[in-house]
Amino acid sequence: MNIREVDNTYVAGTYKRFPVEIVRGKGSVVEDAQGKQYIDMGSGIAVTSFGVADDVWQQAVTEQIGKVQHMSNLYYTEPCARLAQMLCEKTGMKKVFFSNSGAEANECAIKVARKYAAEKNGADCFTIVTLENSFHGRTLTTLAATGQAHYHELFQPLTPGFAHVPAGDMDALRKLAAETKIAAVMIECVQGEGGVVPLDPAYAKALAAFVKENDILLLVDEVQTGNGRSGALYAYMNFGLEPDVVSTAKGLAGGLPLGATLLSEKVQNVLGYGDHGSTFGGNPVSCAAACSILSRIDDNLLQSVREKSDLIFRTLGSAKGVQAVTGMGLMIGVKTEKPVGEVVAACMEKGVLCLSAKDKLRLLPALNIPTDLLQKALDIIIEVCGA
Ligand SMILES: *Cc1c(COP(=O)(O)O)cnc(C)c1O
Repeated sequence: MNIREVDNTYVAGTYKRFPVEIVRGKGSVVEDAQGKQYIDMGSGIAVTSFGVADDVWQQAVTEQIGKVQHMSNLYYTEPCARLAQMLCEKTGMKKVFFSNSGAEANECAIKVARKYAAEKNGADCFTIVTLENSFHGRTLTTLAATGQAHYHELFQPLTPGFAHVPAGDMDALRKLAAETKIAAVMIECVQGEGGVVPLDPAYAKALAAFVKENDILLLVDEVQTGNGRSGALYAYMNFGLEPDVVSTAKGLAGGLPLGATLLSEKVQNVLGYGDHGSTFGGNPVSCAAACSILSRIDDNLLQSVREKSDLIFRTLGSAKGVQAVTGMGLMIGVKTEKPVGEVVAACMEKGVLCLSAKDKLRLLPALNIPTDLLQKALDIIIEVCGA
């Protein structure tokens, strides 16, 4: 059996994989088992922040692997402490809980909100409100948080205590708050899986003001939008928000599993000994990788992310067969005249790996994709969309 057949036989069938086996890569170019090269416009879904097998990232990882690859959280390790310090100094948040994935980072945010609200406002204050069309993860609790019914159907009953309101509709939130005690509102600044849809800035401001007035926590899910992806270190910074809790993962460690839940002053001491934990969370190799990644997401890099974003909006915005371009930074959705599945397949044929989200083409290139490679990928996308 070739690898595709072995995989299809033995790996649980939860992914509809493309018929391509990726064996290696460098930066924004990856290579399949037949030696065909592709420009990677997906970065493993916003994970490989500086591309594949990046030299600086590799050095940070291998150096730490040569020292100690894992210790339990019963002992101190330097990468974990340094990363928490870095995250707090760069955001003004006060403490960090480390886990291994986006769903877990959100689970922690939800646990913090539940405990804070119960202690402050009583045991009946537990409802977490999220937006329709949101995506917050695949565990039973983060599925309950996810505002898309089709993910829920097969897995009832989900964790209770979640409600969803339409994005942009302040009246719906006010009405819900009048009927139900709300512990927290959780938002994505740009809905990623939901089709790369940014929140209306005026709505985001109004929502933030409302929750503040009503002692409701604001949780921002920066799993996909975070770590430079939006053109700011975290997307909430583009909206002028002051979240109580920020969760992130995907691009944080540049390709190793790591989730982080950032706690503001208000909630920094909500979790005490034994309230939460994770065997792998804060793993020294993942944290060393993340220290390296975060130290490179400086003003220059963010400026170049915004410039490349402008280039994509300009180039695709006027292209034949393109109906709309949405998103922020290097998180881009493209509504095409052709069905998105056809566009993705034709791009792959021509050597460009793209993603989709709902009915949109989704582009999440590495933050440091060279401009000439980006231009080459855009030329192929335009050719495909207009053909
Ligand atoms: C991907 C994603 C998640 C889930 O992250 P996992 O690492 O797959 O658990 C949660 N929220 C958002 C916004 C995401 O994009």
